[in-house]
Amino acid sequence: MKPGKWILVIFFLYFGCGKAQEAAELLSALIKIPSVSGKEKPALIFLEAICKLKGLNIKTFSNSDSTYNFSASILPLSDNKPNIVFLNHLDVVAVDDIKDWRKPPYSGIIENDTLWGRGAIDMKGMAIVQLMAILKLKENIDLNKLKYNVTLLCVSGEETGGTNGAKIVCDNYLKELNPAVVFGEGGAGLQNVIPGNNKQKVFFVSLAEKKSLWIKIEAKIRPHGHASVPSGKSANKIILRAINKVENNDSKIKFDQTTKTAFKKLGKLVPGFKGFILGHVNWWIFRPFRRKVLTANELFLPMVQNTFQLTSIQNPPGALNQIPGISAAFFDCRLLPRFNEKPFTIKRLMRVLDPRIKLTVLEESPEAEPTKPDKFFDHINDAIKLTYPGAEVIPFLFLASSDNSYFRNKNIPTYGIMPFELNADLMQTVHGCNERIPLTALKNGINTYYTFLTQVHENEK
Ligand SMILES: [Zn+2]
Repeated sequence: MKPGKWILVIFFLYFGCGKAQEAAELLSALIKIPSVSGKEKPALIFLEAICKLKGLNIKTFSNSDSTYNFSASILPLSDNKPNIVFLNHLDVVAVDDIKDWRKPPYSGIIENDTLWGRGAIDMKGMAIVQLMAILKLKENIDLNKLKYNVTLLCVSGEETGGTNGAKIVCDNYLKELNPAVVFGEGGAGLQNVIPGNNKQKVFFVSLAEKKSLWIKIEAKIRPHGHASVPSGKSANKIILRAINKVENNDSKIKFDQTTKTAFKKLGKLVPGFKGFILGHVNWWIFRPFRRKVLTANELFLPMVQNTFQLTSIQNPPGALNQIPGISAAFFDCRLLPRFNEKPFTIKRLMRVLDPRIKLTVLEESPEAEPTKPDKFFDHINDAIKLTYPGAEVIPFLFLASSDNSYFRNKNIPTYGIMPFELNADLMQTVHGCNERIPLTALKNGINTYYTFLTQVHENEK
């Protein structure tokens, strides 16, 4: 977007309309600024300018092209008050095939009750929800009575592992930020997830995340030449056998406090004896049924197991009649938190793999202890239930990893929740095509976070 247009948008937003309408207009403008990881700086500068206009206190932590990170707080960080931090990232994943999109991905089009575009949910939409809740609190509370500062923390590079964003902030500015609690991305409100109880609305609040570990295995042997003379020994054959071994190297089921609590709560929502078994699936007596119960939903088993997903197989470029001497396979492994799984996993793999194979760790997320639910969990629980009467709140283990891990790694209580209702179709648009968000989700999200903030301030002695 050209600077002239920005000024118009900023003018409109500053002197504009009600919070929900304003949120929609602002999100639409933000989506119009493409911000694939590494090129997110203009989107961050735009939102920073809005925050400044709204009277928030800005602190720019780092500002190179790919590491623009800033915070916008009700009180200056120099006041050193304990801080409620709403964390978001403004980088987005790239668009695969624009032809699959029903509306152009960077259009920010609003049609009927829906706002379209890359980042509408992950995570520009959340950023706007967080900002509007903070502004609403700022307008409605006597600032002298603030027990906590409240901060919007906008970072770069989440989609590429967080080293350009959350890691920089956590490693260098944590003292200044002084977070009492962090709220970032994670679960959302969903229906149709409880077997036999489809109408039940459930909000999943993540307390922990699996550790991501991206590995490469590579076989390199002397090339066997022309494919017309078949060879029993080839790099590809070694890798194919190895792939099988990696995928099946560990099928142990392990429960920790987070998953035990999650299944207990889920079990209470499932009618009948099935619910009882699900709720106590960690009991040894149910061991024989365990696997069957946990495969009833594709999300259950990965909550209690390490997973090893093959994502790519590669040979160097060559003719089709040539037997390649090098073959590589890549895995996205997700390890359970709390069990210090990485060294055991690497050791186990080294033991089962062909000695000609080289294993390399390409990237990993930080080790992080799960957050123990505290008063902030109780307040978000209440706020969700006030916005969505009849909804249940379930603390759970997030199967992917996000910037939240950097804060948990520093022992900051961190919760992952998109405080609005989505459905399976909308969830699938995250990182996919046709990403979009209903305007009611924006409105209810603002309401939930605003209710949370007021509850914290009313209940704190
Ligand atoms: Zn995200």
